[in-house]
Amino acid sequence: MNILITGASRGIGKQIAIDLAKAGHNVIANYNKSEKDAKLMQEELKKENYEIDIYKADVSKRNEVKSMVDFVIKKYGKIDVLINNAGISQEKMFTDITDSDWNNILQVNLTSVFYTIQETLPNMIHNKSGCIINISSIWGLVGASCEVHYSVSKAGIDALTKSLAKELGPSNIRINSIAPGIIDTDMNKNYTKQELNNIKEEIPLNKIGSPNCISQCINWLINENYTTGQVISPNGGWVII
Ligand code: NAP
Repeated sequence: MNILITGASRGIGKQIAIDLAKAGHNVIANYNKSEKDAKLMQEELKKENYEIDIYKADVSKRNEVKSMVDFVIKKYGKIDVLINNAGISQEKMFTDITDSDWNNILQVNLTSVFYTIQETLPNMIHNKSGCIINISSIWGLVGASCEVHYSVSKAGIDALTKSLAKELGPSNIRINSIAPGIIDTDMNKNYTKQELNNIKEEIPLNKIGSPNCISQCINWLINENYTTGQVISPNGGWVII
């Protein structure tokens, strides 16, 4: 399968890209700022005889998303799976969030998903087949204090997933969200050891998730054919709804 994944230079996206490449798929791994990391991943995979494309694009910009999708379609003919993983977070009291903070989080986390899906859909509709997976967050489900804009962006992704599933079902295109709990990546590097331990104690499975947990979920969603419009939340039981 031809699989385009955004934000694949680090963290969750990188793990997904590596696992899918090793499973034999054609993977196009998008990155924005972390060119070194993306190139290193590509080189490491090459050493093990796996080819992967890396493509620089800021997914918050329509023209860059369009060029990326055009590149993939020109090279591979079609996109079977689109994984919207790129995202940023910011901790701020609601009263301190500026217009620019708000717009930036919404643009990078949510509007980017609107762009990538709109640019990819004509190809999927033409092929009457496709799988779209959006990475949201538990905070879109239950709300996070001091991360209102982040939570809104992730809840927006889930609403987009549910609405679009109804439109796209007849075209045989599935779309689902994965809403992770806390996962061990750079996104959580500001937590102290003590804070992470406190969080662990709140989680019934008593552990912080690894990018691998999300990659396994992706693998399942790609390979099944009767799930659409759902929000699946690997979170160790931290949030149960
Ligand atoms: P991370 O380690 O900080 O990695 C973020 C990735 O997103 C990087 O590859 C980064 O690429 C990319 N990115 C950011 N802005 C971008 C842009 N404008 N255009 C293209 N790529 C962009 O974060 P992570 O933990 O792996 O997070 C991945 C996704 O999971 C995010 O959507 C996040 O909200 C979600 N999530 C994470 C957690 C968690 O606990 N870690 C929990 C719930 C949900 P560059 O560095 O190349 O710019």
